[in-house]
Amino acid sequence: MIILLIALLFLTPPLAFYLGYQLHRRKEKRFRRRWLRRIPRSYFVGLNFLLNDETDKAVDIFTKMLGVDSDTIETHLAVGKLFRRKGEVDRAIRIHQNLIARAQLPKRYREQSMYELGQDYLSAGVLDHAEKIFVELINSKSYAHAALKMLIDIYQQERDWYNALKMAKQYETLTQHDMRHIITHCYCEIAESAASKEEIKEAECAVQEALLVDATSVRASLLQAKFYMQRDRYKEALCSLLQISDRNLAHFSESVKLLALCYEKLGLEEELMVEFKRLLEQQPSVALALVLAERIHKVNGSKVALIFVLDYVRRHPSLRGLYLLINFYTFTAEEHAKQDLSILQNLMNKILSQKPDYQCKGCGFASHKLHWQCPGCRQWDTVVEG
Ligand SMILES: [Zn+2]
Repeated sequence: MIILLIALLFLTPPLAFYLGYQLHRRKEKRFRRRWLRRIPRSYFVGLNFLLNDETDKAVDIFTKMLGVDSDTIETHLAVGKLFRRKGEVDRAIRIHQNLIARAQLPKRYREQSMYELGQDYLSAGVLDHAEKIFVELINSKSYAHAALKMLIDIYQQERDWYNALKMAKQYETLTQHDMRHIITHCYCEIAESAASKEEIKEAECAVQEALLVDATSVRASLLQAKFYMQRDRYKEALCSLLQISDRNLAHFSESVKLLALCYEKLGLEEELMVEFKRLLEQQPSVALALVLAERIHKVNGSKVALIFVLDYVRRHPSLRGLYLLINFYTFTAEEHAKQDLSILQNLMNKILSQKPDYQCKGCGFASHKLHWQCPGCRQWDTVVEG
C-alpha cells in the first residue's frame, strides 16, 4: 500500500503535465482549423499569385476581396506598403484608393489608408496629390504629427516657404520638437526671394524674424549685413558680419569679402589687418589669406606679400593655397619666368575647376556653390567648404 502511495506521489505531476499538454495541443489544432476556415479561399489564391510574381492578378483578387471580408484590411495595407517599397507605386495607389472608397471603413483604417496613399503619391512624385491628403490628416489625432512632417518636406520641395514655415511652427507646437533650424531657413528663403523682387522692406522683416527665432543664424546675419550694405550702413553691416566670424568659422569665408568691403568703406584698413590676422590664427582660410595678401601687397609691396603667402601655404598646405602662391610668384617673377608660371597657373586653374568647392557632410553631394539646403539629401547646413 505504502509503495503504491509513493508511486502515485511521484507519477502524478508528470502524468498531469502530459495530459495538460495533449489537451492544449488538441485545442490549438481545433483553433487553427477554425481560423483557417474563416479566411476566404481567394486570400490564398491572391497570396499564391503574389508569390509567383503575378502581381496584377494578386491585386485584382485582393481588391475584389475587400467587399467580401473586412478582416483582411490589415493585409491590404501590408500588401500596399509592400508594392510601394518594391517601386510598384501604381498598384499601391490602387489598393489604398479602394480601401478609402469603402463607406464602412472604420475611421482609424481610413486615416491609415490615407496616410499610406499620401506616401504613395510622394513616392510617385505627385506632390500636389500628396499635399491634399496630408492637409486632410492635419486634424487627425493619430496622424497629425506625421502629416505635418510630410507637409514640411513637400512645401520645401515646392519651395513654398510660407507654408513650410507654417507647418514647421505647427509641428513644433504639437510635438515640442525644436524646429528653429528649419523655421530660420524658411524666413531666410522668404527674405532672399523678396530681395530678388526688390521688396526690400519685406526682405528685411523676414531677416529680423529669422534672427528673433535664432540669433546665431549665420545665414540671417549674412543677409542682414547685405541689406545694410545696400543702404550704405557699413557700421551696422560690420557688426552683423563680426558676429558670424566669432560664432561660426565653418561658414565664415562667405563673409570675408563683405567684411573687407565694410572695413574699406569705413576707412578701417588697419583694423582689417589686425582682425583678419586674428581670425586666420583661429582658422586657416584661403579667402582670408588672399584678402590679407592683397592688403600687404598694396602697403608693403609684392615681396612682403609673397613671404606672407609662402608662410601661410607652408603652415596650411592646400591646392587653393598653392594656386594663391603661384599667383603671387607671377607678380614678382622676372619676365622670362612669368611664361613658365602662367603654364603652371593654367594647369592649377584646370585642376581647381574640377574640384568641388563645397561638399555635403551627409550625402557627399559636391558643387561649386554654397547650398544652404543640400539638393541631394535636403538637409540644412550640411554643405560646407570642401
Ligand atoms: Zn546632402
